[in-house]
Amino acid sequence: MNLLLMGLPGAGKGTQAERLAESYDIPHISTGDMFRAAIKEGTLLGKKAKEYMDSGNLVPDEVTIGIVRDRLAKGDCKKGFLLDGFPRTTAQAEALEQMLAETERTIHFVLNIDVAREELMARLTGRRLCRDCGATYHTIFNPTDVEGVCDKCNGELYQRDDDNEKTVGTRLEVNISQQQPLLDFYQEKGYLRSVDGSRPIDQVFKEIEDILSEVSHSSVVS
Ligand SMILES: [Zn+2]
Repeated sequence: MNLLLMGLPGAGKGTQAERLAESYDIPHISTGDMFRAAIKEGTLLGKKAKEYMDSGNLVPDEVTIGIVRDRLAKGDCKKGFLLDGFPRTTAQAEALEQMLAETERTIHFVLNIDVAREELMARLTGRRLCRDCGATYHTIFNPTDVEGVCDKCNGELYQRDDDNEKTVGTRLEVNISQQQPLLDFYQEKGYLRSVDGSRPIDQVFKEIEDILSEVSHSSVVS
C-alpha cells in the first residue's frame, strides 16, 4: 500500500500516521525524520540539507527529492510506504510520480485529513501553561477544573506567543495556500480521498481503513 498523508497543522496527521504505519506494517516516512537521518548518516544529501537548515533556509526541491528517492529505494518500501510531509510543491509531486513510475510503482491513495479552519484555530490556540509550575493544559483536550487556574498549584495560566490567534492564523494561511495546489493535483489524478478529521481519533482511523479496504477489491494491490 503506497500512501500519502496530508492535513493542516492540528488536523491529527501525526497520530493517524503512527496508527497507519503500525496497522499496515509500512514505513512512516516523514521528511523531517528523513532529513535528520540523512544528516546523522552524513550522506552527501544530508550534508547539503544541513547547510540549508543551519542557515535558516528552506531545503531546495532537488535536495528533498534526492533524499526521498534514496529512502523509497530501500527494501522496506517494497511492501509499501506512508509519505508524510512530502511532497510540498507540485514540482515535488511530479518528481514523485516520475520516480515511482521508474520503479513501476504508483500511489494508491492520497489521504487528506480535513478539518475546518475554525476548528483548527481552536485546537492550535488552546494550549495553556502554568506560570508557577509549568504544567500544560488545553482548553479543549485537557481543560483545568477552573478556567485560567492550574489544577496542581492554583497558579495563573498563560498562552505562549506562538499560540496566539494571529501567529496561528498566519501559519494556517501559509499551509492552506501551500496545500491547495497539491490537493488539486491529486484530485485530478484521482488519488485524493478526504477524511473528516473533526471526529474522534478512532472514528477517523476507521474511515481511513474503509477507504484502504477498497484497494483489496481493485487491481492495484501489491
Ligand atoms: Zn501550576
